[in-house]
Amino acid sequence: MKVPYVNLKKQYLSEKKYLNKIFDDVLFSGNYVGGKYVENFENNIKKFCKTKYCVSLNSGTDALTMALHLLGVRRGDEVITTPNSFIASTSVIVHLGAKPVFVDVLDDQNINPELIERKISKKTKVIMPVHLTGRVCKMDKVIKIAKKYNLKIVEDAAQAIGSKYNGMMSGSIGDVGCFSAHPLKNLNAIGDSGYLTTNSKRIYDLAKDLRNHGMTNRDKIKNFGYVSRMDNLQAAILNYRLSKLPKIINSRRKNYKIYKKYLKRKNIFFPDETKNEFNTYHTFVIQVPNRDRLRKYLSRKGIGTSIHYPIPIHLQPASKKLGYKRGDFIKTESQSKKILTLPINQYLTEKELIYISESINNFYK
Ligand SMILES: *Cc1c(COP(=O)(O)O)cnc(C)c1O
Repeated sequence: MKVPYVNLKKQYLSEKKYLNKIFDDVLFSGNYVGGKYVENFENNIKKFCKTKYCVSLNSGTDALTMALHLLGVRRGDEVITTPNSFIASTSVIVHLGAKPVFVDVLDDQNINPELIERKISKKTKVIMPVHLTGRVCKMDKVIKIAKKYNLKIVEDAAQAIGSKYNGMMSGSIGDVGCFSAHPLKNLNAIGDSGYLTTNSKRIYDLAKDLRNHGMTNRDKIKNFGYVSRMDNLQAAILNYRLSKLPKIINSRRKNYKIYKKYLKRKNIFFPDETKNEFNTYHTFVIQVPNRDRLRKYLSRKGIGTSIHYPIPIHLQPASKKLGYKRGDFIKTESQSKKILTLPINQYLTEKELIYISESINNFYK
């Protein structure tokens, strides 16, 4: 049996008829940058995320940059986040001239709220929890701390469209929610795309100008801006795929339950979904001994896996100047050696999931 980690070809084959109609429609319309599908997409997302506004952008990374910038992060400021994320959540802080101040994580790989307060200084402006794997961080505690110290919250929800915590949608909990529609995310475009959500009219207005060279209209520029617009074609495809998202989330949740039923947990750790959580399983990560050997063993059995992420950000060569060292974030560092991401996409069959589970069980027998 061959079980690839992701299966974008299968996605295309299942959508081919509709996508080809969309290509034809958008190409014929002549509106490629901006257009009605972009507006529709923003309206659809704000409804889905239960926020007042959505601004479509070029990438999740741009959403993070804009969110931090518009919340006032400037040279010398500090932003609190985790070192076990995708590199972009730290790069954006560095590019704004600010300092990423890392906080270690819990067993579920998300920020440990108990460790945040001791990292707050006079320079702290924003807390940026990352909802890794499609599981929302313990936001009740993060909100309490942010209120107490008058800090803003940017949710890195790049992996968490549709995820909930205590019934609250990801992206609607902090001041700004940042999402990616990269091809590997649950709601995916056919290239780079992203978007932000907010309830702030000020941030909405400014982000809309900034993404388009800072143009308030064709002739008036209030601020120097960026080029970070979502293509009409990507928006049209995302509208179509957003209508399928609840089903996709459902089947990923079902896949999680199959793993839960078949994986023997003696040697295999994964955090259970708690009753506060509604997880969307962008990834399904197990923590195991002999991870690298298991990965090779699975590869020989035709099973594709991945590691998110093998080197914590504070130990990356790029982070040298940030002044962190090995041993600073024990949990993150020990997880980086144990984590293995298993296939959990919506195209897997129960048979394949059982094959993966039993192969892993066999390895530890
Ligand atoms: C994917 C991702 C990003 C970046 O999104 P892009 O659209 O690729 O720029 C940022 N943070 C996290 C946690 C991600 O998974």
